[in-house]
Amino acid sequence: MSTSGDSPSIFSRIVAREIPATIIAETETVIAFEDIAPKAPVHVLVVPKTEKYRNVVELAAGDPALLAEVVALASRIADERAGGEFRLVFNTGEAAGQTVFHVHAHVLAGGLGEDSLADG
Ligand code: 5GP
Repeated sequence: MSTSGDSPSIFSRIVAREIPATIIAETETVIAFEDIAPKAPVHVLVVPKTEKYRNVVELAAGDPALLAEVVALASRIADERAGGEFRLVFNTGEAAGQTVFHVHAHVLAGGLGEDSLADG
């Protein structure tokens, strides 16, 4: 399913508490909640509250400090839930699997096993 172009985005609706989510952390600018379809024992989405940036490239160019806040919150969650070690994924573009065009980081941890990315 593609939600390209939706406004407000599904994540803005979670920020506004219009749709439910298991919210686990929040700052003035960033929110973190559990992914509805987890791909790992720890699978949390860390999302800037603004939907101004569609992907991490736009976020890095437009507000690098906000990107740093996303990374900092991801790290804190991994400290709390997975001993501080984690994978941070930003799908960027439909062909790469992005379905929600409101920038978000996937924090994946716990039982990831071995794969080609981890081998590098
Ligand atoms: P993307 O494919 O864009 O990188 O990631 C979107 C993620 O959002 C997917 O992993 C999907 O499971 C998750 N997701 C989509 N809709 C909802 C929702 O309503 N609530 C929550 N918690 N996660 C969602």
